[in-house]
Amino acid sequence: MQSYLMFKKQVVFLCLALTLMAPLQFAQAIKSSDEQTATRPTATQETPETQRILEQQRAAKQAALAAIEAPLPGARTEDAATQAAEQKQSGGVAKNIIVILLSVLIIIGVVLIFRIPGTILPEAFPLMRNTQLRGTPSRASPAINSPPVIPKTESNALRIGNPRFLELAVENHLLVPQDGADLAERFHGNDFAALLQLVTERPHLKDTLGKLWSDAIGCTYVNPEMTAIQPEAVRQIPREFAETNQIVPLYSFGGSLTIAAVNPQDKALETLITNKFNIIPSFVFAFPEEIADTIAIAYQSAENLEGIATELNAEGKKIAADARKNLAAQDLNQLANSNSIIDFVNGLILLAMNEMASDIHVEPDELSVRIRFRIDGILQEKFILDKSVLLSLVSRLKLMAGCNIAERRLPQDGRIKFALARRKIDVRFSTVPTLYGEKAVLRLLGSTFLRGIPNITDMDFSVTILDSIKSVVKAPNGVFFITGPTGSGKTTTLYSILKYINTPGINIMTVEDPVEYRLSGINQVQVNTSIDLDFVNVLRSFLRQDPNVILIGEIRDVESARIASQAALTGHLVFATMHTNNALQAVNRMIDIGVEPFLVAPSLIALMAQRLVRRICPNCIEKYPAPQSVLDDNFEWDGVVEVYFSRGKGCPRCHGTGYLGRLALHELFILNSATREKIAQNASILIVEEIALKSGFKPLRYDGLKKVLRGLTTIEEVDRVTYHDVE
Ligand SMILES: [Zn+2]
Repeated sequence: MQSYLMFKKQVVFLCLALTLMAPLQFAQAIKSSDEQTATRPTATQETPETQRILEQQRAAKQAALAAIEAPLPGARTEDAATQAAEQKQSGGVAKNIIVILLSVLIIIGVVLIFRIPGTILPEAFPLMRNTQLRGTPSRASPAINSPPVIPKTESNALRIGNPRFLELAVENHLLVPQDGADLAERFHGNDFAALLQLVTERPHLKDTLGKLWSDAIGCTYVNPEMTAIQPEAVRQIPREFAETNQIVPLYSFGGSLTIAAVNPQDKALETLITNKFNIIPSFVFAFPEEIADTIAIAYQSAENLEGIATELNAEGKKIAADARKNLAAQDLNQLANSNSIIDFVNGLILLAMNEMASDIHVEPDELSVRIRFRIDGILQEKFILDKSVLLSLVSRLKLMAGCNIAERRLPQDGRIKFALARRKIDVRFSTVPTLYGEKAVLRLLGSTFLRGIPNITDMDFSVTILDSIKSVVKAPNGVFFITGPTGSGKTTTLYSILKYINTPGINIMTVEDPVEYRLSGINQVQVNTSIDLDFVNVLRSFLRQDPNVILIGEIRDVESARIASQAALTGHLVFATMHTNNALQAVNRMIDIGVEPFLVAPSLIALMAQRLVRRICPNCIEKYPAPQSVLDDNFEWDGVVEVYFSRGKGCPRCHGTGYLGRLALHELFILNSATREKIAQNASILIVEEIALKSGFKPLRYDGLKKVLRGLTTIEEVDRVTYHDVE
């Protein structure tokens, strides 16, 4: 770095010297050539350098004057002598122009060298660029919608050493050893720059890389966009402080504030926070741009916007009179570009994201404009503005959506790309003219912090299983297990169930590691072992928080299993996941890890196992007669009716695989008094299964075969994920 700075200084000096010298050199060269052609000999004249330049300047001045006073075409000059003198002067002008042009070129060269950092800076931070929020007003308004400030200067760009990170990346086969060594050499010790470089090159590995980075420094990795953020935690740290230090508070629990930080090892920052805010911080690691996006959204509150709304109302009254007239597009443009309207609209979109709204409605009536958010399917009133604001508001939205700002009598629609530091939010916009003016609706596509939670009806449950789930979750208490290996979609299923039962009347609390979905109206806690915020501690405190429903991310130990059972027995509905191959094994596992059978038997209400299979591509699906051997092995077949299976032929949409997307297969075991009795007696799982099958329990493979007949997946996929029972 030192040598690089030295080099930079030398280049600056050299270029400046050249810039100053060049005109002198050229002037001298031209002057001397002038003098050679002149009648007077020059060899004896010892004119100082400055004298020559002055003469040259005088000559240039005269040339310029001569050019101005040049005779009009047709006008004749008096004598040849004047003409000759003029010719000589114009030759001088050309030379002077060359001098000026060359000087300008050199200056441009110098400027260019230092304006393009990528050409010189070996450690350009690709992720630190592009933090500008589109549509941000030039006026500074940090409290509303200006993008989070990410320090860019060399002294602020973080240099964090973490040599273990590259080693771990190699050990985990994310890098070949040579690439690891190359990166270490390229970023000489700045492992954080190497991390960011890797994320830029392989964005799909971002979470894996973030986790490796954290593992290497012994802390937790969190994607703040995936984490449930407590508004009261956000209020503990002012926005400016969060921006400057690239941190964002996530939640406070047990006297400690969990904060996502770019550099969780920053002891000075830890001390500063403790002294300044009287808070014990617990840092987790997050990427800078995700922190920036989270700051922009999490710090957006309705109170912030109220202030601008007042400003808007005052502004609106001034233009109210004009608005009645037919305003020209130019006037509308001016309205749409006022600072307060820009602040308000940007803030409105951020607030909608913060509150996880799916739509924003701008509705005029006779005297006012009502703004409502649709949250969880219900419209909620947010602001009432003066009617006079409508014109600016709708004009601003039209401008952002690329609509015709002057057209106010016809419906229009368009799209707004709302840019944050890392993400672009897609917003669909439409207007309709109503009796009281234009009504606008903004639909925030993928607006929620993350992927949407599917509805329970979109999960491809078979009808019988869906009906059973719906009746089981009506139970006031009991444990409902979902089992399956990692990546079998257990969390998605659980959240679709939570979404189904989530109503304002019940208190739902979750403890997860990591939190994968955000659902508004429920309380989600992320495990953070570095502050002893583990499953057991969270669960114990949950029981004092009067929950109706508790979701336990995963049950791994006897403590959390026992708490789950006890919670179920004391009037709570508990959802939990477990790694077992089939539903019934969850019973065994509970007993194996040490929960007494007499606790397990009464607390369990249902067990569901699931596996993911690939879905047949709807674009190239075809039917074919089912092979007889497969039918004989798997179905009770009368041998008469023709049975067809489906498969994908392969097309460009599915890249020739015949599959597009996935769906889950399920088996659901609902406990009854007979099975409970056997479990309480610690009977073998085979006996329990026998009773279950008699009372209608259908194994996973049965659901798979039904889905083959429905044309959702192939028999090969079902064979792949379910073991074949041969009797
Ligand atoms: Zn296809």
